[in-house]
Amino acid sequence: MRYFSLNGSASPVDFRTATILGQAPDKGLYFPEEIPVWDSRFFNNEEGRPATALAFEMIRPYVGGTIPDEVLASIVNETLNFPIPLVRLNEAVYTLEMFHGRTLAFKDIGARFMSRCLGYFVKDIPQKVTVLVATSGDTGGAVADGFYGVEGVEVVILFPKGKVSTVQRKQLTTLGNNIRAIEVNGNFDDCQRLVKQAFADEALTKNMFLTSANSINVARWLPQQFFYLMAWLQWEDKAHPPVVSVPSGNFGNICAGLLCRKSGLPIKHFLAACNANKTVPDFFTNGVYEPRLAIPTISNAMDVGDPSNFIRIRQLFQDDQQLLKEVMTAYSFTDEETKSAIQELYNAYQYHADPHGAVGYLALKDYLQAHPAEKGIFAETAHPVKFFDVSSQIINEPMQVPEAIQDIMDLPEKSISIEPQYLMLKSVLLS
Ligand SMILES: *Cc1c(COP(=O)(O)O)cnc(C)c1O
Repeated sequence: MRYFSLNGSASPVDFRTATILGQAPDKGLYFPEEIPVWDSRFFNNEEGRPATALAFEMIRPYVGGTIPDEVLASIVNETLNFPIPLVRLNEAVYTLEMFHGRTLAFKDIGARFMSRCLGYFVKDIPQKVTVLVATSGDTGGAVADGFYGVEGVEVVILFPKGKVSTVQRKQLTTLGNNIRAIEVNGNFDDCQRLVKQAFADEALTKNMFLTSANSINVARWLPQQFFYLMAWLQWEDKAHPPVVSVPSGNFGNICAGLLCRKSGLPIKHFLAACNANKTVPDFFTNGVYEPRLAIPTISNAMDVGDPSNFIRIRQLFQDDQQLLKEVMTAYSFTDEETKSAIQELYNAYQYHADPHGAVGYLALKDYLQAHPAEKGIFAETAHPVKFFDVSSQIINEPMQVPEAIQDIMDLPEKSISIEPQYLMLKSVLLS
């Protein structure tokens, strides 16, 4: 399997190179040259194999022999080391809890898979590899945790000051060792821009081996397909495939779902559930893609004004908006609506949703109102305790705090503060 750059002027590379580089030299995102297809026998798991065996088979063609099978199999097993339960709320509404990994967000899957692949690939690189990543909240924690202590890799994480939750900040700033956290006095788009500037700076990249761990990296993007496989394996009404609503920010997760559907996974329709950052919903309405500045919301991991993976979605549908609309619908909801959804889920089902999952629920609810014959799943992308700052104002009930979180809350934080200026980042990187 080879990957080509969506900017069209870099040469195709294998999985190893795409993982190490993150972004193509022409600044494009890598995209697989072929999309493998499996039949319903495979997806319905008629042989009753373990889910990890199916996941291994799905990812194997994408890895294309750059990692030996037995190593890849153990990477897949280590990636899927937590449950991904499908929870029924009523006869038409289910939620897929993607957040049972160590940092309590769905990003653990991509980060665990990528860190292990990169850990395997850097063994034969003499230079130290620096993973540079911007986070709107959850990426940083998952990447930091995934790479913590990985030999030969240093991680530098940029996060926007005052725009991540308390738990998220703790996850970024308390690890130390090979993980450095940089607090940027700006928003997520500023962080993302600084990272892009670093990658474009030849004087810097000549001295440092830089790579990204954002969802543009194929090794983070592709394993997110496992979620949709897991959803389908637990879906009982196989004759009646679900609609799946995905809380979306950078559009990596939903793009993995769409890819999986192209490979034959039976998903009826996808809903892109956005907060007030509605670049994509507006594109669906008026056909024009207009990047914006990010607007801060209570579902902060989706505060993205220029979602980097959307170009991959356009590629999947040959940039045909009609084809895309047949498979996907985009929604935007306000913080007020999100808060009432958290309340509603709690009142109706005693279900404690986080603000991102709540946005997903709202999109599903809208869709099901217009399509009463369908049934669906909304992705719960983070554990509600990660957003305790928000939900404790809405639900007046103590929340069980998982041990992994209790342990870090009292640890001292270490981070470097910078203004959103590239030269400040550069001097930190070179120090
Ligand atoms: C990152 C994140 C999202 C958005 O996922 P994308 O792949 O960037 O669209 C949604 N919810 C949570 C909790 C997240 O951490």
